[in-house]
Amino acid sequence: MKKDFYEILGITKSADAGEIKKAYRKKAIEFHPDKNPGNQEAEENFKAAAEAYEILGDPQKKAKYDQFGHQAFQGGGGGYGGGQGGMNMDDIFSQFGDIFGSAFGGGGGGFSGFGGGGGQRRVKGSNLRIKVKLTLEEIANGVDKKVKVKRKVQAAGVSYKTCSTCQGQGQVMRVTNTILGRMQSATTCTTCGGSGQILDSKPGNADAQGLIVEDETVSIKIPAGVAEGMQLKVSNKGNEAPGSNSVPGDLIVVIEEIEHESLKREGENLHLDLYISFSEAVLGVSRDITAVNGKVRIKLEEGIQSGKILRLKGKGIPSINGYGTGDLLVHVNVWTPKTLNKEQKQFFEKNMTDENFTPNPEKTDKSFFEKVKDMFS
Ligand SMILES: [Zn+2]
Repeated sequence: MKKDFYEILGITKSADAGEIKKAYRKKAIEFHPDKNPGNQEAEENFKAAAEAYEILGDPQKKAKYDQFGHQAFQGGGGGYGGGQGGMNMDDIFSQFGDIFGSAFGGGGGGFSGFGGGGGQRRVKGSNLRIKVKLTLEEIANGVDKKVKVKRKVQAAGVSYKTCSTCQGQGQVMRVTNTILGRMQSATTCTTCGGSGQILDSKPGNADAQGLIVEDETVSIKIPAGVAEGMQLKVSNKGNEAPGSNSVPGDLIVVIEEIEHESLKREGENLHLDLYISFSEAVLGVSRDITAVNGKVRIKLEEGIQSGKILRLKGKGIPSINGYGTGDLLVHVNVWTPKTLNKEQKQFFEKNMTDENFTPNPEKTDKSFFEKVKDMFS
């Protein structure tokens, strides 16, 4: 179970933007790798705090998190990218410009991070985006999808060497003469793009960066309860970048719902229009109706009114947070015959003024408006 982001930062849900920022700053300084060399626990705490801030520091992501919890970002059960959080150190350090201003050196050159040497920047490959179409059944049950992606990957046999322009530093010092004197500034090395490495040799089919496009089948575990437009992230399944110390980008999976032929989704609830004949309404009937996981038999009492809504508990869509399952609401519509034969016509004419045929809503069901009110209360 993943720890609550508010808990990680030691704040309550009512904390405002300033308090969130302050809390993160405190944690980041406390667990900073430069202060805790070789301390695995501190590193985990540092990453956790960064991940929490990545979400809570962004009003839109925070709103999503408040509504859907971790599931909104990680997908089911944290199964992506090895589990522990989607952020790598580069993501974290790139946040720092915002949080610490220039105090930590910003600009990629400031500090070493984990395992990275000197001032070089770990180059991250670009993200890939794919859309995945899901049926209502797949959404209701969760599904493992296999998708084909075209990824840029480092070609077999490619090799990289230290960039001679920056000596592998990833940046170069530029000295300019101004009227105020000599100014020295560090800029990202344009030869290697900041990675500190350039291509050494590559096979003929690779591009100038030593990359080739490959078809790869990626398994995506989609949790039950996802909705149209939600995005899941599969870490490290985006494009690879050149260089021996680069990290791949991420694969962003955008959810699309395929419309069901008879069930309409509204959040976690499903709606179904059921049409019954006049005779069935009068005499009562058992009917098999379409639910999301197959047919369900329901019994309609004799004398059922058009407009009645039957609620089948738990036959809807599971909450993405795992808090219960929605209902299936069956809307009963009585089909009035448009043509009658002579015999039928006589029957209805005879009963036109009969007491049994006279509407008396007070004695029967609640009105349509009362029912709607009930549904939302
Ligand atoms: Zn360079």
